[in-house]
Amino acid sequence: MKILIIGQGLAGSVLAHQLFFTHQIKDFTIVDNGHYNATKVSSGIMNPVTGRRIVKTWQCETLFPLAVDFYNKIGTELNANFIEEKEIIRFFESTKEYNDFTIKSAEKAYKKYIKEEQNPKEAQLIDNNFGAGKIAGAYVINTSLFLEKSKQFFIENNNFIENNFSFNENFKVSENEIIWNNEKYDKVIFAEGYKAVENPYFGYLPFRPAKGEVYIAKIEQLPQERMIKKGIFFMPLGNHTFWVGSTYVNNDLSLEASEKGISILNEKIEKAIGNLAFSIERIDIGIRPATKDRRPFLGVHSKHKNVFIFNGFGTKGVSLSPWASEQFCDFLLNNETLNEEIDVKRFVKS
Ligand SMILES: Cc1cc2nc3c(=O)[nH]c(=O)nc-3n(C[C@H](O)[C@H](O)[C@H](O)COP(=O)(O)OP(=O)(O)OC[C@H]3O[C@@H](n4cnc5c(N)ncnc54)[C@H](O)[C@@H]3O)c2cc1C
Repeated sequence: MKILIIGQGLAGSVLAHQLFFTHQIKDFTIVDNGHYNATKVSSGIMNPVTGRRIVKTWQCETLFPLAVDFYNKIGTELNANFIEEKEIIRFFESTKEYNDFTIKSAEKAYKKYIKEEQNPKEAQLIDNNFGAGKIAGAYVINTSLFLEKSKQFFIENNNFIENNFSFNENFKVSENEIIWNNEKYDKVIFAEGYKAVENPYFGYLPFRPAKGEVYIAKIEQLPQERMIKKGIFFMPLGNHTFWVGSTYVNNDLSLEASEKGISILNEKIEKAIGNLAFSIERIDIGIRPATKDRRPFLGVHSKHKNVFIFNGFGTKGVSLSPWASEQFCDFLLNNETLNEEIDVKRFVKS
C-alpha cells in the first residue's frame, strides 16, 4: 500500500511515525511546503486541568499516558528528548477561582492534578491578590524539535518531499488510484492544518481556525523551573527566555501580527508581571486548526474511499494526536470503527 500524506505539521508527523513504527508501513510520501505551520509556534503544553471553571481535559486519563509513551518512544527512535514533565503554577484571578480550586483539590478525581501551595517562590516576585495553586501531571513537548527531527528522519528514509501541493491537473482521484505529479498512490491523507478550509474534499467541515500570537521574551527575574499561568502563560525555554502567550482570534488568517493581538498581549503581560523587566525577542504567529465542536476531524470522504482526513486538532494537538493516530491507523488499515466523536461522519447528512 502506497500512501500520500499532505502536511508535515504535528498531525502528519505523528501519523507517519505511527504508520512507520507501529504498523511497519513504510511506503508513504509526506509533502510539505513549510509555509503555514502552527506546530512550530505551539507551546506544546499538555495541561490536565484547564479553564476558569477548572475542569479536567477531555479524556486526559486515556490521552496523556498514551502521548507520554508515544513521544518517549519516538524520541528513542530519533535520538532526541521531546517531552518533559513540568508543573504549572496557576495564579487565581478571583476569590471564586481560588474557592473552586480549593474545593476541587479535595475531590478524588482531581487530587492527583491540583494541589494548594502556600506562598510559592513565583508569588514572592509577582504581585497577586488571590493566591496560587499547583497543577501536577502536566507535560511540555518541544514541538519545533519534534518537527525538525521528524523531517530529517523522513528525508533519510525517502518519505519526504518539500513541495507545494495544489488541487490542479497534477492531482487526480479515481476509484482505484490517486495520482500526484505522475506518481501513483493507493490513498491520500490530508493533514494540512488550517489550510484544510481550502480543500475541495473537506472544506465543508466546520473548521474555526484561530490565530495565535506569541512573544518570545527575556524576563530575567522570573523563576524558570515551572510554567506560570497568570491570565497568560509563561513557559520557560531556558536561559531566562519565555514563551509568552497567546491570543486566540477567529476570522483573521493573516500570518502577520495584528495591532489588536499585540495590544492584548501587552495588556495581559502588564497585568500579570507589570513589576518585572521584560524584553521581547520576537513575535511568532500560528493558526490553529480549531473546529466548531472542539473535536478532531478524522475519517474518509463520503464518496471517495481513498481520500482521508487527519486534522482538526485545535488547541490540543500534542495530547490528542498520538491517541487519534492509533484510532486512525486501525480504521485505515484494519477497517475498525472510529470513535464517533472524532469521525467526520458526524457531519454527513444521511
Ligand atoms: C499560539 C499557539 C499555541 C498553541 N499551544 C498549544 C499547546 O500548548 N498545546 C497543544 O496541544 N496545542 C497547542 N497549539 C495547537 C497545536 O499547535 C495544533 O493543534 C497543531 O500544531 C496542529 O498541527 P497540524 O499538523 O494539524 O497543523 P500545522 O502544524 O499547521 O501543519 C500543517 C502543515 O501542512 C502544510 N501545508 C498546508 N497546506 C499545504 C499545501 N498545499 N502543500 C504543502 N504543504 C501544506 C503546512 O505548511 C504545515 O507545515 C497551539 C497553537 C498555537 C498557534
